[in-house]
Amino acid sequence: MRHRRREAEIRISVNNRRCHRYGFCVMEAPDVFWLVEDGQLRFDSRPDITRRDQARMAARICPMQAIGIQERAK
Ligand code: SF4
Repeated sequence: MRHRRREAEIRISVNNRRCHRYGFCVMEAPDVFWLVEDGQLRFDSRPDITRRDQARMAARICPMQAIGIQERAK
């Protein structure tokens, strides 16, 4: 019997009203979050699952608790 491999995926969201652009998330997860020249925070809302740990850590250290992460199996 064959088993289908279930891969997880993650979705990132940032509450712009909470985010004060301190940049801690950028330092913790530079492949997911980045600050652009105008000071705005940009992020990959659907990063590869291999970025999950760094995204989780960024959410954990965000002083404004502005980062949301949804995880689900495909
Ligand atoms: S650490 Fe939090 S408050 Fe700072 S830039 Fe990232 S999301 Fe915004």
